[in-house]
Amino acid sequence: MDCLFCKVIDRKIPASIVYEDDHVLAFNDINPQAPTHVLVVPKRHIATLNDLEPGDDPTVGELVRRAAAIAKERGIWAGGFRTVFNTNSDAGQTVFHIHLHLLGGRSLKWPPG
Ligand code: 5GP
Ligand code: ZN
Repeated sequence: MDCLFCKVIDRKIPASIVYEDDHVLAFNDINPQAPTHVLVVPKRHIATLNDLEPGDDPTVGELVRRAAAIAKERGIWAGGFRTVFNTNSDAGQTVFHIHLHLLGGRSLKWPPG
């Protein structure tokens, strides 16, 4: 499958990896939008949130809890951070392997553009 993030997971494309376990990989975004901009991805390929099945619930939980744990490590846990899944074109999804953006380290505006 021609998927950029599967290639990162398989080490066919280099990335600045910040966390790895059996189910989850987290790495720094190549084009960071905040002092912390980490992508947290499942190792199993899932294209979009629209493709989630009930059996994926534990995986999604792991992504969210891992993002919070990385925020804690970075010292942005208490001050606040943002977690975002973009889905399909209106949200600007460009890589079709689900990824939770963890953004923080600066004040973030709401609503997003
Ligand atoms: P999306 O727009 O799909 O929600 O987010 C895709 C993200 O992947 C973007 O923030 C983009 O900067 C990041 N990205 C795209 N290509 C690469 C890459 O090769 N390596 C890394 N680390 N991030 C990437
Ligand atoms: Zn993939």
